[in-house]
Amino acid sequence: MKAIGIVGFKKSGKTTLALKIARALTNKNYRVAVIKHSSQSVCKEESDTNRFLKEVEKVALMTPNSAEILFNSKQGLKKIISLLSADFLVIEGFKSLKHFPKIICLREESEKELLSDGLELFSAGMDVSLKEKKVIDFLITDENVLKTMIEEIEQKSFLLPDENCGKCGYGDCYGLARAIVKGQETKESCSYLHDFFSLKVNGKEVSLNQFMSKLYQSLIYGMLAPLKDIDPLEESEIEIKVNLSGYNKK
Ligand code: SF4
Repeated sequence: MKAIGIVGFKKSGKTTLALKIARALTNKNYRVAVIKHSSQSVCKEESDTNRFLKEVEKVALMTPNSAEILFNSKQGLKKIISLLSADFLVIEGFKSLKHFPKIICLREESEKELLSDGLELFSAGMDVSLKEKKVIDFLITDENVLKTMIEEIEQKSFLLPDENCGKCGYGDCYGLARAIVKGQETKESCSYLHDFFSLKVNGKEVSLNQFMSKLYQSLIYGMLAPLKDIDPLEESEIEIKVNLSGYNKK
């Protein structure tokens, strides 16, 4: 899964840009998920949903056209990401998080310093004069630049696990993330990701979220542990060939 963050202050155009990016990636047949930071609760105090949430940890709400799962307590981004399965994650807000690259949306030049943390791929804004003064790279309302922005996002976005284990030699995920944005490293330098699980089908890497990686890891361990002469706790590369042509999906 790849991620791109969109940060900026209020009325900087970040939701407009996030929508454009999510739509453009979806139109390119990627599975896209959006995480949006909000200071307001999604359900009203007097609603039935809120009454249930006062009694239990989670409530699933289903309507004919959509569904949502609500938690009764604060959840970390890592947990929420583990529930999503997508090729691209568009994350709006969360300025303080530093394990994925970002687009900074500016209302004025002075905000650049406040929002820059070495993870920005480029800057964007709604103000034509900022573009004319070359303060921002892209004007959000300019439809002609969307293709270029999407190409940058496809090539340069990534998501590190936010485990901050230090195994990559950078001390924390922020260190490696900055080096990736500078073009000095790639995501492959994250040892934690390699420690986990990767799946290739016919040579093509399959994008898995952390929940699925852990699930596959446990399944493989469960299959191998009872076998003689195999220590599944050693780092292993396992080749599985399976013919699914006779498999009945029903
Ligand atoms: S190895 Fe991966 S998880 Fe550990 S600090 Fe480096 S980037 Fe983060």
